[in-house]
Amino acid sequence: MLTNSRLYSIAFNKCPRCHQGDFFVTHSAYDRHFDKMHDQCAHCGENLEPEPGFYWGAMFVSYAFYTLYTLVTAALFLTWLNVDLDYYLAGLLPTLVLLTPYFFRLARRTWLTFFVAYDRQKAAVAH
Ligand SMILES: [Zn+2]
Repeated sequence: MLTNSRLYSIAFNKCPRCHQGDFFVTHSAYDRHFDKMHDQCAHCGENLEPEPGFYWGAMFVSYAFYTLYTLVTAALFLTWLNVDLDYYLAGLLPTLVLLTPYFFRLARRTWLTFFVAYDRQKAAVAH
């Protein structure tokens, strides 16, 4: 079931341990406070910042997302749709900038999910 998957917490801004509490304070990546995280999960109490500097590793995840996005869109526009390279690059750069807050949040959730597994019992019992 989707709610048992690690992808659930990444996709839906949820705590990776219980999939109930929110990870970021705001639900939108395009809110002024898009980068504000909860210190701990409101549902299960999971520490969402295990140690200082923990999220430095999320930069590599973010880099992977940018690379994947660039490769997929390049394949789509340059190979399949035969768009000129100049037009492709003119479109790529603004979309990379626009995706920055989204990938920032996605990368942090993905990074923590590497280290924190879903626990069905934590999901059932409130903190
Ligand atoms: Zn939780």
